[in-house]
Amino acid sequence: MTQRTVYVNGDYVAEQDAKVSVFDRGFLLADGVYEVSSVLDGKLIDFPGHMQRLKRSAGALEMALPWDEAALLTIHRELIRRNALEEGMVYLQLTRGSAGDRDFDYPGADTTPTLVLFTQAKALVYSRSGSKGIRVATQPDWRWARRDIKTVQLLYPAMAKMAAKAAGADDSWLVESGLVTEGASNNAWMLTQEGVLVTRELSHSILPGITRAVVLKIAESLSLRVEERAFSVVEAQSAKECFVTSASSFVTPVIAIDDVKIGDGYPGEVSRQLREAYIVESRRRVI
Ligand code: PMP
Repeated sequence: MTQRTVYVNGDYVAEQDAKVSVFDRGFLLADGVYEVSSVLDGKLIDFPGHMQRLKRSAGALEMALPWDEAALLTIHRELIRRNALEEGMVYLQLTRGSAGDRDFDYPGADTTPTLVLFTQAKALVYSRSGSKGIRVATQPDWRWARRDIKTVQLLYPAMAKMAAKAAGADDSWLVESGLVTEGASNNAWMLTQEGVLVTRELSHSILPGITRAVVLKIAESLSLRVEERAFSVVEAQSAKECFVTSASSFVTPVIAIDDVKIGDGYPGEVSRQLREAYIVESRRRVI
């Protein structure tokens, strides 16, 4: 694989030359936030939404973000260009930077934040999971209580995904008090037998997915009935269809939950329709 060019604090460098301090608070304390924007045909999907959420995440943590949306767009585009990325993602991470030592207290305003971006090539439109669907296994949601902030504290989601794989599934759905919060790295949806599309309402319990917001609009434009509310594992297992949404998986059908088949065990028609519509809509709106 050819070496990527990555962005670190103002410089575009070969990936092996990219360096961040061992005292960086992202490394020591997971004191960082991130975004993943997808790229189709060399252009960015839902970029303004991702940057708006980045601003919100940084603001919730009183973290400086001394780049405006235009500057961040320029960096994204330059990385896409330098890496000739046609399809995949741009990962962005912002941390509170390094104060030159380890200390819990937030450092002074003179501390420079760390900004790192890199590209990841991935087939998004024609993916196996997108066409065949995925099997999910449930895990208790043991993450912190501010899941609406997109922080780099991703150890528990990583553990949940490993547990899902050990159980023979592809991904994990997280459950709290019997109710599905969301997937380990995506938002969870179901279509009831009555044809109502359901996804959990926004709160501190889940990440406000950018893809979730776009899919909600598409569902409305298709005149689907939609309810934003929590649902249980049992309700999802008896649903007509289930799927997940995220920037890097678009709309991905879920064909089993804890080995219980959803519907006939194949991707559902509405899931397929929403995936198609999301791709068409994204292609129309890329920047
Ligand atoms: N929930 C969680 C926990 C996630 O990690 C993600 C992916 N970042 C999502 C939902 C989906 O968000 P988006 O559609 O903005 O990628």
